[in-house]
Amino acid sequence: MAIRLGCVADDFTGATDLANNLVRAGMRVVQLIDVPPDGGEAAVDADAVVIALKSRTVPAADAVEASLRALSWLRSAGAEQIYFKYCSTFDSTPAGNIGPVTEALMDALDTDFTIATPAFPDNGRTVFKGHLFVGDVLLSESGMRHHPLTPMADPHLVSVLGAQSTRAVGLIDHTAVAHGSEAIRARIDELRRQGIGIAIADAVSNDDLLRLGAAVRDMPLVTAGSGLAIGLPANWGFTPSSAAAQLPPPSGHRAIISGSVSAATNEQVAEFLRSGRPAFSVDPLRIAAGEDVAGEALAFGAAHLADGPGGPGGPVLFHSTETPEAVRAVQSRLGAVEAGALVERALARVAQGLVAHGVRRIVVAGGETSGAVVRALGITGLRIGPQIDPGVPWCAAALPGGDTLHIALKSGNFGGPGFFTDSFALLDREAR
Ligand code: ADP
Repeated sequence: MAIRLGCVADDFTGATDLANNLVRAGMRVVQLIDVPPDGGEAAVDADAVVIALKSRTVPAADAVEASLRALSWLRSAGAEQIYFKYCSTFDSTPAGNIGPVTEALMDALDTDFTIATPAFPDNGRTVFKGHLFVGDVLLSESGMRHHPLTPMADPHLVSVLGAQSTRAVGLIDHTAVAHGSEAIRARIDELRRQGIGIAIADAVSNDDLLRLGAAVRDMPLVTAGSGLAIGLPANWGFTPSSAAAQLPPPSGHRAIISGSVSAATNEQVAEFLRSGRPAFSVDPLRIAAGEDVAGEALAFGAAHLADGPGGPGGPVLFHSTETPEAVRAVQSRLGAVEAGALVERALARVAQGLVAHGVRRIVVAGGETSGAVVRALGITGLRIGPQIDPGVPWCAAALPGGDTLHIALKSGNFGGPGFFTDSFALLDREAR
């Protein structure tokens, strides 16, 4: 069956966040890692497909090219509406990439109007009078002001997007959004008559997003953070149901791979160690000295992952997680990029070895680490399952050999202290 909604996301964890929201609103969703190569089968058993690109901070021309390839695949899969997903803090520069990608998609879809809203009230992102707030402060007063790649010094999105676009940018302000879908459509008609091509849409609550979602039902293209996703599935008659999040039953050993050095992950690793469960520390300095740390990790895994009376083994933790001071010390000796690459390669090799050993349930902590592990395992798509924590679902992936791997990808600062063991408990509960 053809898909309904086709999504182009400008980064990996953002794609998962969007997919997760769509599943919670009742759609069955598959996330693809990059556009399938030419000739790749454009038939997927899902209501929505999210293609995860890495186009947020690449040159605008490259982002446009990748997004158009994604669009073309999604259309051949039958998508009736296209959703361009970017960050809820509108991460971009005057060169793009939100404006150029939006306009290229509009041209390709031959449409003269679309909306733009990064609002995601559940995550504290709201837009009012065209200004983006992060929690209680304007975007420009949040940490985003000093972001290394996409510093956001102007919270007025009409100006920010205007600077990146050739089309005129306008505003669907909260007066219309609060009034209802009819008022939003009337405002859109008015903006169109004024020659506006893209409109920032205010939204400060989930109700605003639901009204917006209904109002944009017939638009070929919408652009947004992941928030708008809560309001779209109803346009096709989808309603929230746990069936949308159903995965095949899990089996096999359990492992956790953590290359994240964020505060939340440090707590999660500490909590896991406190519980006395088996853990192996992957030390970058020992790798740099030429020691076979990945090999040792796998021997440790083999010793601790035997089937027991309670069923398959684990979870066993493999981690390079250290405090910020320890990480800085390693970085000053090896260089930050080199240290990161060494750790990512080692953890990816550990993941491959674990899967060869029969691990079929993996939690990965760290955004970059997740990318490295997914690539090493040859995973090209993920069916999105039940949510463990906001923005972090369990997923099922087909391994190149045909087996199913259950995998959860957690970027740095997500999840409470018990995340590692809680996630496996949730998977067991859902399978019952
Ligand atoms: P997060 O989502 O928490 O930012 P990432 O995986 O995206 O986690 O990034 C963490 C980076 O730090 C990775 O490149 C990883 O390889 C690197 N890293 C992990 N552990 C160490 C360590 N002990 N020393 C130095 N770098 C490390």
